[in-house]
Amino acid sequence: MNAEIIAVGSELLTPFRQDTNSLYLTEKLNTLGVEVSFKTIVGDNLKDIVRVTKAALSRSDILIFSGGLGPTEDDLTREAVAQTLGLHLKRDPDIVQAIERRFTEHGWKMSPNNVKQADVISGATVLPNANGTAPGQWIGGRSDGREKLVVLLPGPPHELKALFESSVLERLRAKVPKQSLAARVIKITGMGESACDARVAPIYKRFTDVDTTILAAPGEIQLHVHTRKDSDEAANNRLDELVGLIEEELGDNVYSDNGDSLEQIVSYFLQMRDATLSVAESCTGGLVAERLTSVSGSSRYFIGGAVVYSNELKTQLADVPADLIDVYGAVSEQVARALAEGIRKKCGTTLGLGVTGVAGPTGGSAEKPVGLVFHALASEGGTEVIKRNFPGDRARIRWFASQQALDMVRRKLM
Ligand code: AMP
Ligand code: MG
Repeated sequence: MNAEIIAVGSELLTPFRQDTNSLYLTEKLNTLGVEVSFKTIVGDNLKDIVRVTKAALSRSDILIFSGGLGPTEDDLTREAVAQTLGLHLKRDPDIVQAIERRFTEHGWKMSPNNVKQADVISGATVLPNANGTAPGQWIGGRSDGREKLVVLLPGPPHELKALFESSVLERLRAKVPKQSLAARVIKITGMGESACDARVAPIYKRFTDVDTTILAAPGEIQLHVHTRKDSDEAANNRLDELVGLIEEELGDNVYSDNGDSLEQIVSYFLQMRDATLSVAESCTGGLVAERLTSVSGSSRYFIGGAVVYSNELKTQLADVPADLIDVYGAVSEQVARALAEGIRKKCGTTLGLGVTGVAGPTGGSAEKPVGLVFHALASEGGTEVIKRNFPGDRARIRWFASQQALDMVRRKLM
């Protein structure tokens, strides 16, 4: 069975609000083994919603609507769906009472337009909404000789989620053929998308029963794989087999096969090795520290460090000799090395990271262009430096640099 999600709301067609409900719904549907084939966003316009509903009925088995169930003039999902299905709307006195009660409980007076939220499509099952006034609706039936299911859910994300969990999930599970879906996200650093795909495509192409998507993100490649089987065990075993072969092919470049972030992996290795870390950051302005401390429990291994933007502070806080900066410039292999060694010594940590570069868009030169970043990792055994020329705007260059720095720590401790 395939599903289609229809997000109703003119605000979702502006740059100011994003449809996030469909992300949640897709995840839930996938766990039931239901594939989402289409997602539609439509404004608060009766004719448009009817058109979208007709199209959706012609191509999808399950239609899930989000939004347009509120009390205002522009909330038209009920009307549009009733019209498309050729069904009537009937006001349900119990729901009117429940809405009135909700208002009284909060000490408010109900304005008359609220009663329209009690309009129920004939034959629909009402799905009570514990967090708001508009209940959901569940309509089953046949169209073009096929079983169809239409579910209306309120737009506010916390209402939609609670209602889905309490009234939709189990009802859906009973409807759809039982299937187990397993999914993994393999994350890879140190190689580009095409180079990665050239090596893994021959492997995943042999797994015709597994869907594989390759995605490029700044500083990493992600392989998303999923498969459906009769049991959880069969689905997981099949993915274990594929993931094992990919890891064998890509070696150290794979940093996670369960979706963990790089900072989580770094956290894991630092704790396993009983190591501590400090950072001296220039062009990343604290981004490396921010990512490290976003992991709960990071105080166990991350001591701290300094954002050393000015040359003076590089000297004061990370003991970088002033003449080193004079001779080689702040963006140089020598200064990166001195930052890492200096902060490691000052903080008394197992490892010290130093990052210095040109994040742009201004400040580049022929010799030191925008995107040039030096990353250094100091340890007892010495200091390694990696020089990179990152593409993109300021935000991307800074993210790339933080990714490279964290990856150096990971590879060091592996
Ligand atoms: P409605 O049920 O259309 O009155 O929606 C109420 C509110 O829910 C809207 O103002 C949005 O803030 C939010 N909302 C509606 N649809 C979505 C969606 N697809 N994703 C995230 N938020 C939504
Ligand atoms: Mg709306």
